[in-house]
Amino acid sequence: MSSKPTAVRHDWIRSSHFHDLQETDVLNEIGRRIKKTQETAHPLVLLDLDSTLYEVEPRTHQILLEWIDSPQSTSFPIARDKVAKITRDHLGYSLKDTFSRLGLDLSFQEFSAAWENAKAFWQERFFNSDYLKHDIAYEGAAEFVNDIYKLGCEIVYLTGRDEPGMGRGTRQNLLRDGFPWEKPKTHLLLKPTFEMDDLLHKKSAENYIRKHGTLVASFENEPLNLVSLSEIFPEAMHIFVDTICSDRPAPVAQGLYRIKGYIRP
Ligand SMILES: [Mg+2]
Repeated sequence: MSSKPTAVRHDWIRSSHFHDLQETDVLNEIGRRIKKTQETAHPLVLLDLDSTLYEVEPRTHQILLEWIDSPQSTSFPIARDKVAKITRDHLGYSLKDTFSRLGLDLSFQEFSAAWENAKAFWQERFFNSDYLKHDIAYEGAAEFVNDIYKLGCEIVYLTGRDEPGMGRGTRQNLLRDGFPWEKPKTHLLLKPTFEMDDLLHKKSAENYIRKHGTLVASFENEPLNLVSLSEIFPEAMHIFVDTICSDRPAPVAQGLYRIKGYIRP
C-alpha cells in the first residue's frame, strides 16, 4: 500500500483525481479497450457485487422490518418507532449511518443500545444467502456486463461475500438477474471464509487474474479496494462506482474513473 495521504468518503472523492468523462464515455471506453486488447492478449474485467452491481439497501430494509417485529426490539420503543417509518432514503452503508439518518443520536445510551441490538440482528442475516433475494441489480448493470461479455472478455466477479454463507444466493441472483454466469469465461471469486479480510481477498486474486487474462477494467464501490487494485494493475482502468461506501480511509488517488450507474442513453 502506498504512503499517500488518505481520506474518507466525500473527502476521498474530492481529493482524488477522476477522468472528466460521463458514464457513457467511460463504459464505451472499456469496450474500445477490450477490442484493442484482443489484438495481442485476452481481455478480462473485474466486477465487485455489493453496491457495485447490486443495490443492497433492500436487504438491510427487510432485516430492519423483521427487527421491529421481533422480541429483541421491544426494549427499544422509541428506536423501534423510528425504524418503523424508515424509507429507502434513510438506508446508508452501515446501520450506524442509517440510525444517524433517522435522527437516532448514538451518544444517547438508549439509542446506542438499540443500535447494538439491531446490528447483532442484522449481522446474523445480512451475510446469508436467504436474504440475497432482496438485492436489486442496478439499472443497466446486467446489460452492460452482457455487452462486454459478448465482446469476448473474461468476466470475473470479485466479491467480499463468503462461500459458506452467501455462495448459493449469489449464484442464484446472477442467474435470476441475467448476468453472464454458468457460461465459459465467467468466474466468481468468493472469500473461502467469512472471517477473511475483504481487501486481502481482493489483493490475493492477483495471480488468478493474471493467469486468466489481461485486466482491462475493475469496478468497485469501496475506495480502498479500488486504489489497491489500481496499484497492482496500474495499466488498467479502475472505475469507482459512486453508490455507497464504508468509512474506511483510502489513499488519495490519481487517474481513476467514476460512474454513478450504468444507464446509457
Ligand atoms: Mg462492494
